[in-house]
Amino acid sequence: MTARATALRSGGVSVIVLSQGEPDFPTPPSIRDAGVRAIGEGLTRYTAVAGVLPLRQAICAKLRRDYQLDYDVDQVTVGCGAKQVIFNALYASLDAGDEVIIPTPCWVSYPDMVALAGATAILVPCEPEHGFKLRPEALAAAITERTKWLVLNSPSNPTGAVYSARELAALAEILRDHPQVHVLSDDIYEKLVYDVAFATILAVAPELSERVLIVNGVSKANAMTGWRVGYAAGPTHLIKAMNTIQGQTSSHTSSISQYAAIEAIGGDQCHVADFRTEFQKRRDLVVDLLNQAPGLTCAVPDGAFYVFPSCAGLIGKRTTQGKLITCDTDFTNYLLDDFGIATVPGSAFLAPSFLRISYASSRTELDLACKRIIDACEALR
Ligand code: PLP
Repeated sequence: MTARATALRSGGVSVIVLSQGEPDFPTPPSIRDAGVRAIGEGLTRYTAVAGVLPLRQAICAKLRRDYQLDYDVDQVTVGCGAKQVIFNALYASLDAGDEVIIPTPCWVSYPDMVALAGATAILVPCEPEHGFKLRPEALAAAITERTKWLVLNSPSNPTGAVYSARELAALAEILRDHPQVHVLSDDIYEKLVYDVAFATILAVAPELSERVLIVNGVSKANAMTGWRVGYAAGPTHLIKAMNTIQGQTSSHTSSISQYAAIEAIGGDQCHVADFRTEFQKRRDLVVDLLNQAPGLTCAVPDGAFYVFPSCAGLIGKRTTQGKLITCDTDFTNYLLDDFGIATVPGSAFLAPSFLRISYASSRTELDLACKRIIDACEALR
C-alpha cells in the first residue's frame, strides 16, 4: 500500500500515508550525537557478531532495571532490527515438521519467517470480543508434540492489544505442562502503552527462563527504524545458535548504530515519555473520529501506534461509481484510489474485515485523513 501511495503521490495525487509502522518523529539529538561520535572516534570496523560489549551490557542493565531479570552478556545478541533477530531465532531452531503457534491477527512477517525456516505456522484466531488476545483454552488446544514455539507480541501489531500480567500468567500455566514449547516474546512496542501496565511473560513466570526468548529493539520507542538495531535475550545455547546464523549472513548490524543504541537504551529516557504522550493524544483523536464513520467500529487499543477498526459494516456496499466493496482489500483500495488515504487491509494480518491504520503521523494529518475516511464511508450506498 505504501508503494502504491508513493507512486500516486509522484503522479501529483494528494495521499496521506497511514500504512507504515514507523514513528514520524526524528531520532532524538542525544542518540544521533552518539552515532556521530562513534564515526568521529573511528568505531567503524567489524564488531563481535553478537554486538559490541558495551551495548550488550546496556541491554543486560535495562532488563535488570525494567524487570529484575538477570542476564549475562553471553545470553544477549544484537542484530539488524528485531526482524533479523526473530528470523535468526526461528531459523536456528526449527526443522521441517516443527510447529509454531501464532495468535492472529499477527505481524505479517511471523508466518513467512516460519515458512522460510521450513516449519509450519499454526495460526490461532483471537476474537475481537476477547481483545484479540490468545486465551489459555485456545493455546492448550493448539499445542502438539511438534510445537516448538509460541509467538507472543504485546503490545500487538496490528491490534494494539496488551496482555496483562494475569493473562500472561494464565498462558504460562498451560505452558508448564508442555516443556517442548518455547516462547518468543516480541516486546518491540513495550514502551508504547497507554493507561495500562506492560508485562513480559518471563517476569511473570520466571520458571520458564530456559524457554523464553525476549526480543526487543530501538526502532519504535526511539524513532530509530532506519538504524536497524534489535536484540534478544535468552538461553545461552539458543543465543549461540542465533549468532552462528548471523555470523554467516549479516555478521552484525552497523557499528555506528550499535553505539547510538547504547545511548537509546542506557541514556536519558525523557523522549520516550514525550513520544508516548503524543501517541496517546493521536490515538484518542483517531478513535473518536473513526467511530463517527458509518460502517466502521473502532475499539480503543491499549498500546503500539495502530488502530484496527472493523469494516464489516461496509462489505456489500457500492461506491458512487457503482463498484461493489466485497472485502477489506476492496475498501482499503477505495480509500486510496478515491480519497487518497493509504491503510493496510486486515487480511494482510490474517484478519479479514478489518483494516490497520497507523497513527504515527501528525495530528493535523490524522485529522484530515480521518475526515476523508468519514466522507468515504458516508459516500458508500
Ligand atoms: N515485531 C513487530 C511486531 C513489528 O511490528 C516490527 C516492525 O514493524 C518488528 C518486530 C521489527 O522491528 P525492527 O526490525 O525495526 O526492530
